[in-house]
Amino acid sequence: MKRNIHPFITRRPILSLSLNQSLCITTSPPPPPPPPPPPPLPRPSSCSTQSKSNPHALLDAHIKGGNLFLARIMFDKMPQRATLSWNAMISAYTHQNMPREALSLYMSMLSHQTPPDTYTFASLFRAIAGLTCLTMARTAHAHLLVLGSKPNIYVESSLVDMYAKCGSIANSRKIFDSMVQRDVIAWTAMIVGCTQSGLDSEALVLFSEMVGSCAQAPNGFTLASVLIACGNAYALFMGTQAHAFAVKAGLDQGVTTRTSLVAMYAKLGLIQESHRAFEGFLEANVVSWTAMIAGLVQNEHHDLALWVFQDMLLTTLRPNEFTLSTILRACACTALLRAGCQVHSLSVRLGFESKSYTGVALVDMYAKCGCVVEARVLFDGLAFRDVVLMNAMITGYGHNGQAREALQLFKEMGAFGLRPNSTTFVGLLSSCSNAGLLDEGFSIFNMMRSNYGVELTSDHYACMVDLLGRAGRLAEAERLIEESGPSLKQDIVPLKALLSACRIHGELEMARRVAMRVLELHPDDEGAYILLANTYARARNWGEANRVRASMKIMGLRKDPGLSWVEANGEVHAFGAGDKSHPRASEIYRQLQELVNKMKEFGYVPDTSFVLQEMEDETEKEKSLYYHSEKLAIAFGLMCIPNGMPIRVCKNLRVCGDCHNGIKFISRIVDREIIARDVKRFHHFKDGSCSCGDYW
Ligand code: ZN
Ligand code: ZN
Repeated sequence: MKRNIHPFITRRPILSLSLNQSLCITTSPPPPPPPPPPPPLPRPSSCSTQSKSNPHALLDAHIKGGNLFLARIMFDKMPQRATLSWNAMISAYTHQNMPREALSLYMSMLSHQTPPDTYTFASLFRAIAGLTCLTMARTAHAHLLVLGSKPNIYVESSLVDMYAKCGSIANSRKIFDSMVQRDVIAWTAMIVGCTQSGLDSEALVLFSEMVGSCAQAPNGFTLASVLIACGNAYALFMGTQAHAFAVKAGLDQGVTTRTSLVAMYAKLGLIQESHRAFEGFLEANVVSWTAMIAGLVQNEHHDLALWVFQDMLLTTLRPNEFTLSTILRACACTALLRAGCQVHSLSVRLGFESKSYTGVALVDMYAKCGCVVEARVLFDGLAFRDVVLMNAMITGYGHNGQAREALQLFKEMGAFGLRPNSTTFVGLLSSCSNAGLLDEGFSIFNMMRSNYGVELTSDHYACMVDLLGRAGRLAEAERLIEESGPSLKQDIVPLKALLSACRIHGELEMARRVAMRVLELHPDDEGAYILLANTYARARNWGEANRVRASMKIMGLRKDPGLSWVEANGEVHAFGAGDKSHPRASEIYRQLQELVNKMKEFGYVPDTSFVLQEMEDETEKEKSLYYHSEKLAIAFGLMCIPNGMPIRVCKNLRVCGDCHNGIKFISRIVDREIIARDVKRFHHFKDGSCSCGDYW
């Protein structure tokens, strides 16, 4: 399972967007990612020397002056149109990103019995690359062969580029390999094509060949693509080499190359290097800012991502759909509802609310902030349905313990013609696990492969082990792992789910066995040490618990501190257990003490079996429970969050049993809804009970 460590260790202001002032929305649309440079379309030098009375020279002048409209009027009025004029017009449309017009003019050229030449085809292929239509690509290629134009380097380069962009990397490679001579455009088109098709290693091999052959020097676009491939393939050495190459060639200042540097270092987990590359920008564009923000989110620096996003809003740039969906992910991961709502209103203002990336990210954000009703309202309002959106809603239901709704949505997928994928089933199985729906879980698990052709992964097994484990059927869970096949048996994710179940049910012997297996496979897994130590501690076997903790120390592993946080007064307030660092600590502790007194009057009995450190004194044990981080965060929330509003608390570990019980009492005493998100799921506390029905 992915580690979910909250980055806030101090109180930080949360996102504050002054929507009217700081966001200077320019009317121009965000620049698209730059395409590889166009193959130059040489024109006979005689063109420029012709007199203005020459119709072609006039046409050329209009095109060069950027007045395509006038050029077209001029072109249509020409009494005789040579191939040269058709080419000029088709090429102009292609350069102006008007591929359909270029294509239609080519068809018109054929109907006028004007023979196309190699330059016509070079432009035509570029136009089709823009349309990413493989059928058209094949037809156009056939035209070239039938009409007998002898391909030159420009045409071949355009063919390589066209096939790569139309998704046929095999055809692209065939033409590339057959080229007698290759220019930088052909090399770049081939490398970009490989990277975009996920063939990162192949792209890197090609780059080595290109540099090794010394035939062509890479340009900024080649390097940008190579850097992305290095990030995807975790090729740090090659990445630094390509970086050094870019610096040496003076190409590292280009926006595209620099943006790729930011993305590459972030993918490699080197966030400081990534930030350094970002700081080196003379003028970052929206793609560069988005790369920086996405890098921070990938590396779980969600708070920093929010800061950088806020800085971006102070520039004249406007975020695009990808920026918004990325920042919404940061809000979702940290359950920062207020910030998420602000990004939502920004999305509405920019007209991205119902676009696919932002729409899905908004549904996900609301569901992950515990607002499952709001998520559903948004979901229902979206005009499109795709599997990613369905997965976001199904997973959201699962986290919030609403397995029936998740299963219902799964049934509706077929009506929209959508085929569930691996993620859909992880969402469904974890929904069943969270709600204890054993039979439903099993029937989904059994039909995944046979009915939908979805391969079983360690995540699916982990959900099933969790489902069985929580129901106390540990032997069955262990058997399921044994039967999962040689490679899945070596995966620690299902094993750790089993270890977690052993802790819940106090199965010391099995816990020891499973933990040993996890540690054989991953000796550095601090989670296995912690789970085993806690299993011993809950069984009051302090000797073994301390021994496991000591081994962990010897291995140089550290337990990440448990933190709970709450949004209040425009800030995030984080608390550790027994934390007194908050400026209002004395008030918080007073408030908590009063609460505990009232809870006891209502029948709360502290469950000291959740004290995981050896303590002699019973009062001392009870006190240590009172000051658990989630209780401190709730006490503070009650002091600051206006009456009538729910208290939303987030924790980076699982909520302990005593806190779960205690929060039920608190919700009744103060008559407030308390929504707690732990690393596993949501608990909605109201009127003395929890939405999980105490099954968690
Ligand atoms: Zn607790
Ligand atoms: Zn609960």
